[in-house]
Amino acid sequence: MVVEIGKIQIGGPKFTVIAGPCSIESETQFKDTAASVKKSGASVLRGGIWKMRTSQKAFQGLGAESFELIKKVKNETGLPLISEITDIRQIEEVAGIVDAYQVGARNMHNYSLLKELGRQPKPVLIKRSFSAFIDEWIKSADYVMSGGNQQVILCERGIRTFETATRNTLDLNAVVYAKKHSGLPVIVDPSHAVGISDLVPQLCYAAAAAGADGVMVEVHPNPKEALSDGPQSLTFEGFEKTMKQLEKVLFAFDRGLNII
Ligand code: PEP
Ligand code: MN
Repeated sequence: MVVEIGKIQIGGPKFTVIAGPCSIESETQFKDTAASVKKSGASVLRGGIWKMRTSQKAFQGLGAESFELIKKVKNETGLPLISEITDIRQIEEVAGIVDAYQVGARNMHNYSLLKELGRQPKPVLIKRSFSAFIDEWIKSADYVMSGGNQQVILCERGIRTFETATRNTLDLNAVVYAKKHSGLPVIVDPSHAVGISDLVPQLCYAAAAAGADGVMVEVHPNPKEALSDGPQSLTFEGFEKTMKQLEKVLFAFDRGLNII
């Protein structure tokens, strides 16, 4: 199964890198990040509009305030955008500006949201909940597909284990298992999986070697100042270096990078 985000084919022979900030914070932050990740070889842009934060006091995202900025950045870069929707009402609100809907880990079991996404003409990326069995994750995809929307991508973003040294534990078993049994494209989010920016590059390479269809990576112009997920965000320079190494890993597996 090949799923298209904009003109980018995910699940075909090429590997796709989705990159961008955890949250859209300001014009310069989003614009500069988009331009930089494109230059380094990302072909899909990410950026949170509404954030699912554990603490209500934490930055909740710019919401509708970011719409004009999103249009501008998409126009300037030509990159398609994926963004999380946290509520059924947001599906229509962002229909004109996002190219794919992201279902966050916390909403993987939100079956009414999944059913509504099954009626949409756009791809849906479903993140695995941190406590979901692989089988439950694949069954969440069925909720979207049974509504008529076959364009589903699965994303492994780390699960909770007994380990506390890293934010979560990247489950590469799940990647190879879901690739074999779901028939859907499977990508890896190393940023949320490990939670430590220094360790993100190696997990990108591991995802490529494991046969994932792509990675989704958080990048920020100044991670220390980020309003969400700074500790796991790569700098522009870090992302550029990672992309160079990643291409070498892909080459070893006779694969190339999707470019725009
Ligand atoms: C995110 O992608 O920024 C995010 C909130 O991810 P998750 O739903 O996997 O926690
Ligand atoms: Mn994040």
